[in-house]
Amino acid sequence: MIGAVDIGGTKIAIGVVDATGRLLSRRECLTNAPAGYSSAMDRIVSMLREAEASADTSILGIGIGSTGPVYPLTGEFGEVNFFPGWRGENPVKDLERIFKLPVAMENDADAAALGEAAWGVGRGKSRFIYVTVGTGIGVGVVLDGHIYRGVDHAHPEIGHHVIDPSGPHCSCGFDGCWESLAAGPAMVSWIDNSAPPNYPHRADLTAKRVCELSQAGDEWALRAVRRETYYLGLGLANLVTMFVPDAIALGGSVMKSSRLFLDGIRRTMVSSCRLVPYDKTELALASLGEDANLIGAARVWYHRFGSNGGLHAI
Ligand SMILES: [Zn+2]
Repeated sequence: MIGAVDIGGTKIAIGVVDATGRLLSRRECLTNAPAGYSSAMDRIVSMLREAEASADTSILGIGIGSTGPVYPLTGEFGEVNFFPGWRGENPVKDLERIFKLPVAMENDADAAALGEAAWGVGRGKSRFIYVTVGTGIGVGVVLDGHIYRGVDHAHPEIGHHVIDPSGPHCSCGFDGCWESLAAGPAMVSWIDNSAPPNYPHRADLTAKRVCELSQAGDEWALRAVRRETYYLGLGLANLVTMFVPDAIALGGSVMKSSRLFLDGIRRTMVSSCRLVPYDKTELALASLGEDANLIGAARVWYHRFGSNGGLHAI
């Protein structure tokens, strides 16, 4: 049994996960980053103890998936947008000291990718890519069960590969990144900038609402979904052209409406992948559901310390 910690910009989820990837108990609270790192750590510790007691078990270790940037091998937070003032804090060392157990941390997209690769739709796939589409686009690449890392163990920021340099300004400071064109908020800001002033749904627009409106036949929502589909497809086609993986799994809040996008994504991939056997890459939906990040956080521990992890994980 492994304790799992998913630290997001909005909420922190805690769970106890068994060796088959089953979530046995779960707790959740708001991240409330302005309250400070030690307040968040106090809540994480007490929720872990509650989750352990309610699953009636003792955990052997703790895995963390966190919104990034984080430094997986030192356990420190980098300059995370959502957590001003948390830079340099070290949840890995703190939880190791408090629980006297081995603790490992990864970027949350890498954590979910490891979870899907071991216990979900990526099982048995040598070259597996997980893409989460929500308020941003996160990507984790898993090769033969091990996370791909860049130099200095960096997490590649595939959500920020440029699709159209004349595209919208991105949170990273550049223009036209995949995330700025194809994450959930891209649909909202496109309607905001393109629809006439009297467009009736402007006030309460979210990505989820755009999907609902498009299903109801709203013209602007339909156009936003078509545009989203095209840019998702272009980015995914780039991944196929660059990696030719066995499978790509799609998760995240936007993919709850996946049936609006999948056929169009496939069409874009077919038309833009020219020199690689794109038809051999399986395009699937993530299978671990709402708790993919939390279950993946537990997998982070196995990846680092389990029999298939160890030094290879570095
Ligand atoms: Zn960017």
